[in-house]
Formats: sequence, C-alpha cells, structure tokens
Amino acid sequence: VTSTTALTYTCVGPSCAWPTATRATSCHRIDVGDRTLLVDLGHGALQALRAAEAPLERLDAVLLTHLHLDHWADLVPLVWMRRFELGASAPLPVVVPEGQAARLRTALEALDALDVLDWIALTELQAGLPPTGVGPVAVTAVALPHSAVLTVNAYRLQVADGTTIVVSGDCGPSDALPAFARDAALLVLEATVPEPLAGHLTPGEAGAIVAAAQPGRALLCHYLEPLGGPAELAIARAACPDVPIAFAQPGERVPVAPRPATTPG
Ligand SMILES: [Zn+2]
Repeated sequence: VTSTTALTYTCVGPSCAWPTATRATSCHRIDVGDRTLLVDLGHGALQALRAAEAPLERLDAVLLTHLHLDHWADLVPLVWMRRFELGASAPLPVVVPEGQAARLRTALEALDALDVLDWIALTELQAGLPPTGVGPVAVTAVALPHSAVLTVNAYRLQVADGTTIVVSGDCGPSDALPAFARDAALLVLEATVPEPLAGHLTPGEAGAIVAAAQPGRALLCHYLEPLGGPAELAIARAACPDVPIAFAQPGERVPVAPRPATTPG
C-alpha cells in the first residue's frame, strides 16, 4: 500500500558555487505522494531535473534559501520553460527569506527578466512564524547568518503524519540550526570547505550540528569535488558517531519514514 503522504527526498544538486561535469549546484526535491516542491534551484539543476523527468509542469513551490546565484540561477529558465514550452498558466509559487523579494526584483530587472515576476507568485517567509502551508507541507523557517549582505532561511518541512525534513542553506557554525532541526527525520546541510571559513561549514562543523540536532539521519551537500570523499566523511562521522551521515550523491533518492514514537521523559 502506497501512502498518499509518502515522503521522498532527492538530492538534485550537491555541488557548491559551481557545477561539475556530473553535479548541479544546490537543489533539493521533496516529493509527498504525487506532489513535488523544490528547495533551491542553482545552475545545472534544471538540466538534472529534466534528465530525471521531474514533474516541472505541476510543481507546488520553489523555496529559496537565499539569493546567491548557486541557489536560484535556474529559476529564470525554469519559469521560461514552464511558460513557453509547457504552457503552464498558473503562477509558480516562489518563497524567499524576509527582505529578499525586493532583492530578487532588482536582480531580475538587471537581467532584463522582469517578465518572470508575471509568472511567479513571490512571497517572503519570515523566520520564527507558525507553520505556513506550502503545497503538501507545513513550513517553518529559521534565519541563519551567511554573508555580510544575506541571511539564509533553513526550512523545516512537515507532512500530515508529522514526518519532518529540514533543509539548510549556507551558514557557519550555528546554535540555531540544531535547535531548529531537532529530531527531524532527515537533516540536509552543507559541508562546503575543508578549513573553517566564515559563512560555511567544514565536515567536522556540520557533524557537530548533526550531533546536536539528533535527526534520524543526515546528508551533507554543497561540497566541492574532491571533497565529499572518505577522509571528509570520516571527519563528519567522528563528530556525530550516533547519527547516520553521508555525502549526498546527485540524483540520490531517500524515502523518509516517520521516526519511531518516543516516550516523553
Ligand atoms: Zn551556496
């Protein structure tokens, strides 16, 4: 029996700020039964989604963690494809962090792509609010520091049976992320750099967040080849020995089941 709320996470793009021959930049696909939404849509992601025959004509929403190009560059071609190839008539819901809608408008204006705004339904999702319905999920956000200009939304996506996926954007070491991701069935977070760098995580720092959050399992993404190999994985696992953790591979599909109920106290 297939549950209509069966939840699947797919890593569309696990690369960081530039794609490789086989890895798109940031993009995460969330399927809930026959409903689909995306978190981030960096360059290379649209081609990967098309290769996987993703249902781009009936996306529920695209949630952007922030407006660095490796997280939204393929939004523009996606909107054009939906409009002119697929004949989509309904605007595509697009969610950005608080304060970043105006920034997106400015970017589209600079790109002579303001028509994109006619074909999306653009909203901001403020961190810390009660859950908002976005397609088949209830979404909350936490704002994380990233660069001097942009904060990042991590998104917590919950389906009707309570199963929860947390997808983070780029951030440095954070106490807010583990608190936000606590007890999720799946936590997806970046592990970008081999040595500490402001606004990003090393595998060890990512592992420490996983250890503090105690999700059912964790996937590391936004990593550059040849990072993501056995040495980096060993570092991440050493920091969170009790939670299964792995580097996400392009196209990897992960069925996400509810966590076993725990007895309070
Ligand atoms: Zn990034």
